[in-house]
Order: sequence, then C-alpha cells, then structure tokens
Amino acid sequence: MPEAPPGVCPFRARSSRAVLPDRPHIGAAWRVPVGPPVTTDVDRGPHGHGDPSGPRLPWVIVANLGYLQVVRHCNHFCGFCSNPTSPYEHTLETMRVLVDDLVARGYFGVVLTGGEPTLHSELPAIARYAKERGLHVRMITNGWRLGDRMLARELADAGLSLVHVSIYSVRPAIEARLRGIEGTLERAFAALEAAHAAGIEVNVNCVINAQNADHLDENVRVITARAPWVRHFVWNNLDPSMGRAEVNQAELVPRLGDLELSLHRALAHLEKTGRSYRVERVPLCYMTDFAHASTETRKIVKGEERVVHFLDDKQTVRQTDWEHVYVDDCRVCSLRTICGGLFDRGQAYDPGELAPVFVPMEPIVRRVMTDGEDPAITPRSFDYAAWQRAHEQRRAQPRPPREPDLPRQIERSDGPAVGLVTEESLRRFASKRRAEARLAERLGIAQERGGSDDEEPSER
Ligand code: SF4
Repeated sequence: MPEAPPGVCPFRARSSRAVLPDRPHIGAAWRVPVGPPVTTDVDRGPHGHGDPSGPRLPWVIVANLGYLQVVRHCNHFCGFCSNPTSPYEHTLETMRVLVDDLVARGYFGVVLTGGEPTLHSELPAIARYAKERGLHVRMITNGWRLGDRMLARELADAGLSLVHVSIYSVRPAIEARLRGIEGTLERAFAALEAAHAAGIEVNVNCVINAQNADHLDENVRVITARAPWVRHFVWNNLDPSMGRAEVNQAELVPRLGDLELSLHRALAHLEKTGRSYRVERVPLCYMTDFAHASTETRKIVKGEERVVHFLDDKQTVRQTDWEHVYVDDCRVCSLRTICGGLFDRGQAYDPGELAPVFVPMEPIVRRVMTDGEDPAITPRSFDYAAWQRAHEQRRAQPRPPREPDLPRQIERSDGPAVGLVTEESLRRFASKRRAEARLAERLGIAQERGGSDDEEPSER
C-alpha cells in the first residue's frame, strides 16, 4: 500500500481507478415493475414491504412516499435534468387514478413533481383530490411561478402541505448557468417567502454537481440567513445516467472528494442550528458523521419503498432495494449493510474513491429509528437487538431478479396507465424538442437522447 499523505486515510490514498480496474459488485441496484397494490399496515415493517410473512418490528409505521410526475416540460433548462420533456401528458382524470393507486398501496403521501408541476393548470385540483384521499401532499418545484402569492395561497388552500424549492447555488451566475436562464435565484427566494406566507412548510432541495460541490455550505448559510423558516434541506447527488445529465457528464458530475468538505460543513451548520437534512446518492464514507441522514440508509434501516408514476414509457416503477455498487474494501466496512454504496448508473463516479469506515452502526440506526420528526416512527422504545435480527433476516431473503445492468426502458407493468399520448401531445412534444435543441445549442449544453425513455425520480 502506498504511503498516505498526512491527514489522508490510507485506504483513500491507495484508491484510484488505476488500481481498481474492475468493479467488483457485491450488491446491485434494481428496480422492479410494480405488481398489484399492497396493503401497508402499522407494525409490518421494516423489511416486509407489505409481506405479512416478513419480519415484524413493533415500532415502525412504514411511511412511503409516491411520486407523481404532473408534467414533463419545464420553464428552466438544467443541464442535468433527469426528467426532460416527453410526449405523455396528464389530465385531472389520469392523475386521479394514480393518486388512487398510492392510496390503495397504503402510502403516506404523494410528491407532485415534473418537469415543473406548476405548469399544469390542474395542479390545485389534483392536490385537493390527493388531500381528500388522505395523502400528505408535497411538491417539488423550481420556484419560478410559486413566488406568485396568489398561486401559493391557492395551493395551500387546496391541501399542499410541504414544498421543496430547488436552489443549486446562491452565486447568481452559477445558478443561472445551471438553470439555463437568468434571474432564477431571486424568483426562488420569492417562492420561499410566498409559500411560507401561505402556511406551506418549506424545504430546499439541491442537486450536487461539479459547479456547486465546493460551496454547499455557503448555500446553506445564505439561504438560512434570508429564509430562516426553512428547517429542512435535501441534497441529491447528481444522477449521471439519464436525461441531459447523461450527455453532460464531463461538465457536471462531481468527484466525491470535491463535495466532501463543503457537504460536511453544510450539514454541521444545519445540525448546529437544529435543522434536519437528507442526502441521497452519497456513500456513507463521505458523510460518516451524518450517516443517519442518508436517504438510502434510512430506507434500508426502516424498510421503506418508493413508487414513481413516470410520465413517460417507464410508467409505474417501484423501488424496494437501495443498494448500488460496492468495492472489495466495502467488505470490511462497519456500515456496509446500511450503506447504499456508490451510485454507479451512468458509470460516472469513481469506485476508487470509496474507503471503508470503522465506526459503530448502532448509534446511526438508533438515531434513524428514534427520529421524532419522521412520520414513520412511533414514539416507542427502540430495541436494537430486535432490529438487528430483522435486518439480518431481510438480508437473507431472496431478492427479486436483477434487471440486466441499467435498463433504458421499463416495460409498462400491470399498474394503472400513466398519462396519455395523443396526436396533439406528440405534435407539442416535437415542437418542444425543436425549441429546446435551439436553446441547448445557444447554452452550449447537449440535449438528451430521445427525450422520453430513460429517467428516474427527480428530487431536486
Ligand atoms: S460500504 Fe463502501 S461505500 Fe459504504 S461507507 Fe463503507 S466503504 Fe464507503
């Protein structure tokens, strides 16, 4: 093993793509087409995923969230958009069917997303319907239209309880470059204010990419100073496998080493100020002190699943497995069984950046399972030994057959049909693609391939 520079973990010092030419997969992510709706009861999980024969734990209410793509077009043009324009469109009726599907599955809530969901004229109506059906109603938005206080009020009155406004950088020039449009930052801050004034809980979402990876902490400090009511932040490390991200990897995919310090500082600031946070697609060796906040870790620990109603050819997709890929060194890592590993789809991240950690797992699991702000957790005492037994049982259970590598297209399943493709929607799609091609050329970014077939949930 080469000698490590001062202050650098010896495992990291020897890690590089050059010494790890192969990528040994101990685990792998897969997605499975949805089957019939399952009933999810109190006390059934984690790990049963609705299967009554699965291990039972006495303190968890599975609080699954479903994603409903309301539209697939957008008024911004981000180079890493994972869900760009498709020929599919929704009416209120086609969306109601999908809300009903989430209700039938026993889901806790629905996240209305896109594209940019505020571009659908029936957004308040579908929010109202979802609320009436008993779902917790959330929305992910770029904030461009939500700064309109009348719209924010209308959505609040319709039942929207929580909004995620995406802000990538508080440096206006970087934000504008990432968005493909000027003036987005101030509009996003206006959205934070309008939503808060309307009584909607406000979170901030951020896609980590090569252009903001070095100032995630600056983002948090500026946002919390200007909008102190924002109590929760969500980061999604860039998914380089789909949409425009796939074809703009060179400019936009960050190295894990480049985000580690600023992410640590950002999370430490939130911890210190009593806020909460989640981070998706960052392996635990790059957020060890905050491992309880890893989206994948929380899903693994609690046994939660996710359904996405894609407004494209994939239609309805259900994800029950949160493990991506691991390297040989992961075998000795103390967090291996609760870590999502390296998000490899798109093959843009370097497995050589992974390095095992040797910290106890119990405090992380305990913090997840006793999180009073998590709707999945009931305030009962937590038995770590019982959790361990159930965790091991689940890991020993047979897993669904793995789809070959990275499926470009998910077959339409026997779930409900998602959206409509009509002659008119195909004409609009072709027109948007032509307009976006001109925009892409002017901005110097590549346009996605095909435009309708290869994405997964955007959690901007
Ligand atoms: S299991 Fe692998 S990816 Fe996860 S923290 Fe350990 S070394 Fe990193």
